Amino acid sequence: KLYNQVQDLKGNIRVYCRVRPFLNGQPNLVTTVDSIEEGNIVITIPSKYGKESRRLFSFNKVFGPAATQAAVFQDTQALIRSVLDGFNVCIFAYGQTGSGKTFTMTGPNELTEESLGVNYRALSDLFVLANQRKDTMSYDISVQMLEIYNEQVRDLLVTDEIRNSSQNGINVPEANLVPVSSTSDVINLMNLGHKNRAVSSTAMNDRSSRSHSCLTVHVQGRNLTSGGILRGSMHLVDLAGSERVDKSEVTGDRLKEAQHINKSLAALGDVIASLAQKSTHVPYRNSKLTQLLQDSLGGQAKTLMFVHISPEPDALGETLSTLKFAERVA
Ligand code: ADP
Ligand code: MG
Repeated sequence: KLYNQVQDLKGNIRVYCRVRPFLNGQPNLVTTVDSIEEGNIVITIPSKYGKESRRLFSFNKVFGPAATQAAVFQDTQALIRSVLDGFNVCIFAYGQTGSGKTFTMTGPNELTEESLGVNYRALSDLFVLANQRKDTMSYDISVQMLEIYNEQVRDLLVTDEIRNSSQNGINVPEANLVPVSSTSDVINLMNLGHKNRAVSSTAMNDRSSRSHSCLTVHVQGRNLTSGGILRGSMHLVDLAGSERVDKSEVTGDRLKEAQHINKSLAALGDVIASLAQKSTHVPYRNSKLTQLLQDSLGGQAKTLMFVHISPEPDALGETLSTLKFAERVA
């Protein structure tokens, strides 16, 4: 009960921070993370002039480098339940390229049972919970997968097979919305989406880190006694890398990409910050991403942001700007 009250005060927005471990083969670097305690993380800021300083950031929770995928997902389960109760939910992964966004949402390249990310766990929970309710509720579940690159939306679920069996997408009528009935259906679709996304990344050097990908799960439930219908949705968003590019070093397409990313991440930050502050004007129109997610951000909708940081000293600048971004929306 107390927990619910706290949630109400927070206005349905939660921010979790996750620190990536050092990767295999890295030399023994000194981490920039001084300490982690529940929702608090302290960063060490070395000074060129002698005395180093420390900076504390507070979130709903902080996961250290040893946190397992299961532990990271655990507190997300309540959100999955609420999708089946008719709520809209957004889960974001934010952070610089290489900080672990895709690891959290999807997992590493070689997936094992333990390393499955939030997307898989959320979908599998959704089916388990829907099945537990089958005596009272009948659920139809469908999936859509989009990429936003340079403020343009692209459907990642495109094959002839799907075109014939799909419904119209949510907010993007021309996108495919594909009915699914098991976790393995979803895994097959996610694999297709990842493959479609990869096709363009060979042409444009790792485009995946410079576009947002959004897996949307649409749920329609029918109460078997009353006939009442409820609708819920869940957006699982792996955001483009948040790193700033040096304007003096990039030009042309690369600069345009960077500007689009900066603009859309700033727009997302503005929307969430104004929701957190219960501001009357929420600037949804400033980016494709926030337009697309408008009805799932604010109101009764629930938002969870995973912010990721890298532990290496040379990432310190990005780490601080990531934590400042997150602090503003928390
Ligand atoms: P991003 O999507 O933010 O660019 P990735 O998720 O691709 O970053 O992570 C970069 C690398 O670090 C990948 O090789 C990934 O498997 C690894 N990695 C990220 N987070 C973790 C973690 N918590 N534990 C182990 N390896 C991780
Ligand atoms: Mg990634």
